[in-house]
Amino acid sequence: MARSRLSVKRVALAALAACLVFPCFSVAAQTAAPLPSPPPAEPPAILALGGDLFLINRAHRISKTYEPDDLVTPEVGTRKASLKDRILMRKAAATALEDMFRAAFQEAGHTLFAASGYRSFGIQQILYNSKVQEVGSREKAERRVAPPGSSEHQLGLAMDVQAPSELNLNTNFGSTEEGKWVAQNAHRFGFILRYKEGWREVTGYSAEPWHIRYVGIAHATAIFQLDIPMETYVAAAALLPGYVLTGGSHPLLAGLIGPMAAGETPEALRSLAGAKAAEREERLRAATAPYLPEGTSYEQALWYAYPTPRPTAGPRVDMDEETSLYPDTGG
Ligand SMILES: [Zn+2]
Repeated sequence: MARSRLSVKRVALAALAACLVFPCFSVAAQTAAPLPSPPPAEPPAILALGGDLFLINRAHRISKTYEPDDLVTPEVGTRKASLKDRILMRKAAATALEDMFRAAFQEAGHTLFAASGYRSFGIQQILYNSKVQEVGSREKAERRVAPPGSSEHQLGLAMDVQAPSELNLNTNFGSTEEGKWVAQNAHRFGFILRYKEGWREVTGYSAEPWHIRYVGIAHATAIFQLDIPMETYVAAAALLPGYVLTGGSHPLLAGLIGPMAAGETPEALRSLAGAKAAEREERLRAATAPYLPEGTSYEQALWYAYPTPRPTAGPRVDMDEETSLYPDTGG
């Protein structure tokens, strides 16, 4: 069931990609509206290696020499104190992890442990080889352990998370109160559940409720709302202008990428494509308006998605409305 639906989505997405490059929608011919520019040959930095939305899987591998240059030890709990110094993540992801663990405790009384963050190519090679030994074939091993060069852990943007009551990394974590909290709240801090039940045809992995991947709050929340694998999300995101990926808030991103993943071309895409630098802020604002939930202002959506520092100019704040900026933003 899930398999055929996702395949249809993939085909539709490929068709959409072709249609963005070549004008093949009759509506475009009738209205003569300018079509979005073809995707740039160089992907925006956010989609490239080192960017928050860089996609890594068995089909998209990285070199054995890649190592992020901003790895730090997050100030979070671990199963044993001695493990703490061995756990590393890239700076922004580490800060987000600290915020998430703190919120889990303050909001719900849950203690979370960090189990495994950055892993070098060499360490991944050792894990992979021992899994192959254990299960007897590469094929079986690859359902559980990524071959070296294809692990999210090499990016320094992934963390395996544990609960005190479930110290093995297995699907039981998803049934613990801590695991349920992570599944429902990780996006508020910029993390997604990368491998969910029913996505194996797309991601290549069985469900891993303990494995979270940092993509930033705007994208994590859009992905959470759309409930689609990162592969599907990134295929559509790659068709958006770079400034939309770095400055668009979750209502806009979900509003655009949801229909795109289903093979449709949202009308807003036409106005966003080809905007000059000076026009971008206004285009983002106008394109976001139809997707804003009732009672949420554009500024609230932006502040939720980019707490501080924001990647673009600060939002205009009406001083009279200042007291209403914070409720319900969760940020
Ligand atoms: Zn993991």
